[in-house]
Amino acid sequence: MDNNVKMVPALCTQCGGTVEVNKDDETAVCPFCGTSFIVEKAINNYNIDVSGAVKEVLDFAGNQMEAKRQADISCA
Ligand SMILES: [Zn+2]
Repeated sequence: MDNNVKMVPALCTQCGGTVEVNKDDETAVCPFCGTSFIVEKAINNYNIDVSGAVKEVLDFAGNQMEAKRQADISCA
């Protein structure tokens, strides 16, 4: 068994599909659209996407807390 291959999640720079890439490779080919892309860019795409999703969740939680605070004030 060769466990030295470091497969990491990435997003295709062309179609946005989630792919697994070997980060030691320069380029990889998307299994969805067949486009070859730069591995590093695809990994960056994936990381940006994840942090964007986290921010959305945090914004939502912040809005919920603000709404509750307003409700508490109106009850007082
Ligand atoms: Zn693709």
